[in-house]
Amino acid sequence: MRVSVIGCGHLGIPHAAAMAQLGHQVIGVDTDSSKISALNSGKAPIYEAGLSELLAKHTASGELKFTLSLKMAAEFADVHFLAVGTPIDSDGRSYDTGQVFGAVRELAPYLTRPCTIMGKSTVTVGTTKRLTELVHRLAPVGDAVDVVWNPEFLREGHAIDDTLRPDRIIAGVTSERAERTVREVYGPIIDSGVPLFVMTPETAELTKGAANTFLGMKISYINAVADMCDAAGADVAQLVEALGIDPRIGHGGMRPGIGYGGGCLPKDVRAFTASAGQLGVDHAEALLLAAEAVNDRRPEYAVQLIDAALDRDLSGARVAMLGAAFKAGTNDVRESPALAVAGRLHQRGARVTVHDPVAVPSAARRHPELEYANDVTDAVIDADVVVVGTEWPQYQEIRPEDLNGLVATRTLVDFRNIVDSDQWTEAGWTVHCVGRPSTAPADRSS
Ligand code: NAD
Repeated sequence: MRVSVIGCGHLGIPHAAAMAQLGHQVIGVDTDSSKISALNSGKAPIYEAGLSELLAKHTASGELKFTLSLKMAAEFADVHFLAVGTPIDSDGRSYDTGQVFGAVRELAPYLTRPCTIMGKSTVTVGTTKRLTELVHRLAPVGDAVDVVWNPEFLREGHAIDDTLRPDRIIAGVTSERAERTVREVYGPIIDSGVPLFVMTPETAELTKGAANTFLGMKISYINAVADMCDAAGADVAQLVEALGIDPRIGHGGMRPGIGYGGGCLPKDVRAFTASAGQLGVDHAEALLLAAEAVNDRRPEYAVQLIDAALDRDLSGARVAMLGAAFKAGTNDVRESPALAVAGRLHQRGARVTVHDPVAVPSAARRHPELEYANDVTDAVIDADVVVVGTEWPQYQEIRPEDLNGLVATRTLVDFRNIVDSDQWTEAGWTVHCVGRPSTAPADRSS
């Protein structure tokens, strides 16, 4: 099929590349001309495993092109995936759907033959209905344009894999014709056994919000339990292992740490919570507000833990922050918990040097006040404390002996509970984790 992907960001670029991989002819559209030039030369402006290879392959074959022109996309494609951003509004709670309505308002007047708009962005319930009315009013072909809501569930860091092998496809449709288009465009994926859930657009919109909000709630729950473990001297890692064995609970998302971040979860939890209030379901709103409050407190909790771990004043202390990305596998630093902590430490007078395998350039743009290092060994020089802020597997492989002669004090705070604390303690380090008792070299000899 001939498809367009409108909005080439963390969702749109992997989606465009994956659609080309499925055998479609694809045109990606964005308003950012530097992004379009990079993409047309096969270069990915974001980091995702496997993305560069797919982009290079399909731009070279001509099956994947990028343009600034929605008119060109309208003339070319029969299916238009909408993957523009929905940042949080200035009220801090609802989505700003300006990019969604802006793109459709611009596209619709060029729609002169039957086609389908498939919305992938995360939106407030009711958006598809309003968009459908707008398109039918503005498109020369009128109601021959179907609007489908097809929310995306990919995880950054796994974007290509999740797009080609999703655990589900959701189609919010209002006609059999629209459902047929969904089945055709995702044909190879559905044929491979991935379940397709067909529902109304309203149910599709709410399903996406409910999924991300549940994840946020689960993370906040285990973080709150980790705090109880800290207070009681218990071990949250052992607790999680035993807790998650119950299939109704599961181990997924049960990783205590410094809270959820990124371009999706924080805003989706906020917007879904606000929707609960707008729909008049006050008890749902109250439940979700508590999950948000736990997450909002995480950076301050982290700063306090670092402060307590230091054997000197935080002001003037040298902190090596390992990790800037909001999670491993991406260079996305939007609402990154590691950077939120680094920023607060800097405000309190600490000298923070941040390392990340791929996210240093994006972090430096957002936080120019921090110092950056391209190697872990440079980041830790003279550090009073080394902090693991992102769960990159590389940090699990650090040999503590290699850092011993570089740091000022052998103190590690592992906010992701990923290091082998025995190994670090044996090398002379004091290790602080989340929801687990701290270990010091003296503990081992006693
Ligand atoms: P993003 O900010 O990285 O990308 C959005 C892109 O849309 C930008 O490149 C922007 O220039 C472009 N754009 C804006 N207006 C446009 C227009 N009129 N025409 C063409 N392009 C336009 O955002 P993202 O992270 O890719 O998220 C996009 C949507 O997908 C959001 O609603 C988000 O909640 C949802 N989502 C994202 C993910 C993810 O992992 N990032 C996962 C699931 C759902």
